[in-house]
Amino acid sequence: MASNDILQRFTFDHSHVRGELVGLKQTLAEVYQRQSYPEPVNNLLGELLVAAALLSATVKIEGILSLQVQSDGPVSLLLAETRHDGQLRGIARMNELSDATEASLLGEKGQLIITIEPDQGRRYQGIVELEDGNIAKSLEGYFRQSEQLDTHLWISCENGVAAGLFLQELPALGEVQEAMDVDEDAWNRLNQLAQTLRTDELLHLDNDEILHRLFHEEKVRLYDGQPLRFNCSCSKERLSVALTQIGYAECQDIVDEQKKIRADCQFCGQHYSFTQDDVNGLFPLESAKNGKGLH
Ligand SMILES: [Zn+2]
Repeated sequence: MASNDILQRFTFDHSHVRGELVGLKQTLAEVYQRQSYPEPVNNLLGELLVAAALLSATVKIEGILSLQVQSDGPVSLLLAETRHDGQLRGIARMNELSDATEASLLGEKGQLIITIEPDQGRRYQGIVELEDGNIAKSLEGYFRQSEQLDTHLWISCENGVAAGLFLQELPALGEVQEAMDVDEDAWNRLNQLAQTLRTDELLHLDNDEILHRLFHEEKVRLYDGQPLRFNCSCSKERLSVALTQIGYAECQDIVDEQKKIRADCQFCGQHYSFTQDDVNGLFPLESAKNGKGLH
């Protein structure tokens, strides 16, 4: 990975294969310090954050891309979310871990849900079975089934460092392909080369060193990186929306009992509170009817 947290795309001349490299360290430190997950859970969450960053480069929208793993294992939920500008955040939910190994944390059955929420436009959701509790494998299945694209992902996370390598073969373009003198064997050859990358190399080499190590006989171009960082998009306004969904009666009950509604962001731990005035503002009609809007 590079010395900073970045996403870097690369391409090969005369082929339809695209690639990406992602490395995360500071972002993980920020996510981990706000939670207290056991190390194997941190590693899984790190893998999912890398996967979200890799996928974000394949969709051309302004908005949020999230990956959610739901399983019947000790880790019931993993959620990683990224915005097009490189912001990342994530959480995990777990039951008693006892002596579960990393491989069994996601149980026997589960699913991986990919959600794309553009700032403008329609929300998209895709779901695949979780294959062998393996995030990379499951995403390869998703691209094969939903997009008919051959894709390979290599993702690792340990000791507070996470990194991923992504290769995808884009569809051929017929006549244009012939004109461009496209190398038909590139996909197989590049995958065989990528297969030789060791985990410690993926985690600790610079991106240009990784590409040189794997593809020094290929014409590969590495593009400028997009910086990635932890940032939580929570706000009092966004929580207000959740409160309006709970409804006036329940919100008013809590204020009557506890003077205010307290809510903590599950991603970053930020505390929020809503007073009687806030509830009046959220539900002006109901609170006036109930005599609460008058002072
Ligand atoms: Zn937050």
